[in-house]
Amino acid sequence: MHHPAIAPLHNAVIMGGASGIGLAAARKLLRLGLNVAIVDRDIGSLEQALKELEGVADDGQKLIAAACDVTDRVGLEKTARHIATQLGHVHVLMNNAGIQPGSSIFGEEVEWDAVLSINLGGIINGTRIFGPAMLAHGQPGLIINTGSKQGITTPPGDPAYNVSKAGVKAFTEALEYELREREGGQVRAALLIPGFVFTGLTARGRTELPAGAWTADQTVDYMLTRLTAGDFYILCPDGEVTREMDEKRILWAA
Ligand code: NAD
Repeated sequence: MHHPAIAPLHNAVIMGGASGIGLAAARKLLRLGLNVAIVDRDIGSLEQALKELEGVADDGQKLIAAACDVTDRVGLEKTARHIATQLGHVHVLMNNAGIQPGSSIFGEEVEWDAVLSINLGGIINGTRIFGPAMLAHGQPGLIINTGSKQGITTPPGDPAYNVSKAGVKAFTEALEYELREREGGQVRAALLIPGFVFTGLTARGRTELPAGAWTADQTVDYMLTRLTAGDFYILCPDGEVTREMDEKRILWAA
């Protein structure tokens, strides 16, 4: 039942785990036999997710849902203590909470604050709060941070999101270096760079899977394949929509 990517790992924490890619990861890791804690600020989604995941977890498996905002460091520290008591040592941390409300350079300050503090600040908080205990035990571990293609291609149209995800890339590269060079490499890092995934973040009223889009489950399966191969950059192949976005960027840059 164990997947080679996560074979020696038993306990996973997923930020933004109540929907979309995070929920798909929770579902998959439970199916693979791990104990899972999902952390999310949206209580309604958490309750729904918990109901669904209870149907997936076996009797002996632990499943926790914790309501917390990833921008709230004190809340996250409490959550980490709660999870440690319930699950024990954390082996897998997926920093995945994110929003994309849209932005412009001279738009509202609150747009910038929310996007940067959640998409980038949340990943920094999660890593810095859960990371030290993950390292302290000398056990194998994995920290997966969810970036975006937009953090790499930086297409025009949503600067706050691009900046936040470019920051996630820079942070995760630095994390990978420190884990490997200074911390003995037992805990590894990976940067998930999804393509266009059909989730609550992107559906915007649509119900059908758009051409070229991936489901969250496909994204998680692909992530596990790349993790097994030992990849740090988990760059999901382009969907049509992302390709179109890249072409626009190239035209714009020319
Ligand atoms: P989603 O909206 O379905 O899931 C995101 C989850 O994060 C939600 O449950 C939400 O409540 C939670 N969340 C948001 N802010 C939070 C906060 N402050 N504290 C705690 N939880 C919070 O979206 P998704 O598409 O599954 O996105 C997951 C990640 O993937 C995000 O980081 C997103 O930027 C990234 N991503 C998504 C796509 C895509 O096409 N869907 C593409 C590239 C990157």
